[in-house]
Amino acid sequence: MSKGTPSKSGGGKTHIVCRRCGRHAYHVRKKRCAACGFGESKRLRTYGWNKRR
Ligand SMILES: [Zn+2]
Repeated sequence: MSKGTPSKSGGGKTHIVCRRCGRHAYHVRKKRCAACGFGESKRLRTYGWNKRR
């Protein structure tokens, strides 16, 4: 064992691989993906530029 990921409080991992976008951005505790917003909304997260008016 040398350099690795120091687990601070032994809380385990915070982000897992999102099954929707495949990115390692799915927050376990928040239960939502930071990349695509999976778990928060049904649709992919939008910032307004893709918003239909
Ligand atoms: Zn995602």
